[in-house]
Amino acid sequence: MTVEVSEEIRDIPYNKMFHIEHVEIDLPEKAKIYESVKCSECGEMVSEHRSRVRNGKIICIPCLGEVNK
Ligand SMILES: [Zn+2]
Repeated sequence: MTVEVSEEIRDIPYNKMFHIEHVEIDLPEKAKIYESVKCSECGEMVSEHRSRVRNGKIICIPCLGEVNK
C-alpha cells in the first residue's frame, strides 16, 4: 500500500503545477501597460496607449491624424 502511494506521487506533474503558479504571479501588471494592438488602417502593431478605437476599429495615432483632416 505504502509503495503504491509513493509511485502515484511521482507521477503527478508537479512541474506543471509550479509553472502555472509562476505565470499567475508574473502576469498581471506588466502585460497591461504595453499591450500591443494592431491598427486596422495600416496594419502596424502599436502600443495600446498610442491607439484609439473608432467605429469599433483600432486605429493608431498617425492614421487618426489622416482621418481627421
Ligand atoms: Zn495605423
